Amino acid sequence: MTSSTAIAANLQHLHDAIEAELLRCGRTPGSVRLVGVSKKQPVEYIRAAIAAGLSDIGENYVQEAMTKFPQLPPVRKHFIGHIQTNKAKQIAQLFDMVHSVDRAEAALALNKGAELAGKILPVLLQINISPTERFGCPPEHVDALAELLHHQQHLQCAGVMAIAPLTTDRTTITHAFDHAARICADLHGTVLSLGMSNDWREAIRAGSTLVRIGTALFGAR
Ligand SMILES: *Cc1c(COP(=O)(O)O)cnc(C)c1O
Repeated sequence: MTSSTAIAANLQHLHDAIEAELLRCGRTPGSVRLVGVSKKQPVEYIRAAIAAGLSDIGENYVQEAMTKFPQLPPVRKHFIGHIQTNKAKQIAQLFDMVHSVDRAEAALALNKGAELAGKILPVLLQINISPTERFGCPPEHVDALAELLHHQQHLQCAGVMAIAPLTTDRTTITHAFDHAARICADLHGTVLSLGMSNDWREAIRAGSTLVRIGTALFGAR
């Protein structure tokens, strides 16, 4: 069991460690946003993290988000799960940013959802940089998807998201993150969403502006 005080301590520790890493690699203090990934975590834990200062949460499942969000105080909400086109309307309504646009059908469905919700939805293009990851746009298809996104009036493509290869080899992770960062720069993206509990340091060194951290904040799922 994780207690509220443990979550507050984890948040403070992560915040300090992120700032220390930014300093070490010569980046601007405060230039990384921490998104607390709260999938499969009880509402009580998420409330504890928000009370301790967490400003952003990430969820993977629409159904779960729909039951949890009404029980939370105001917080910025990120959708980081796979986009099913039949859920796009709800995703556009519930979330402030969507990280996982990886194919044309998802972009088109989300654009329609955002139009119905009456908003311009910031999105990230999810790139597949890993042989162990099922989802994400293959790098060779990124330009076509970016072009299609550019023409969606209710979406604003702000940058790139990627998930590292499942490996303990830090060099492989770093190379994959550098690849994603180059693609983001080519697209003139300003938001780079790289890094989870086990690889956020490599992500910050690669230039990530947004880390998605679950286990290291809330405990094991
Ligand atoms: C679950 C998840 C995370 C958080 O993973 P941890 O290893 O628990 O930090 C981050 N990003 C995505 C896309 C996820 O699905």
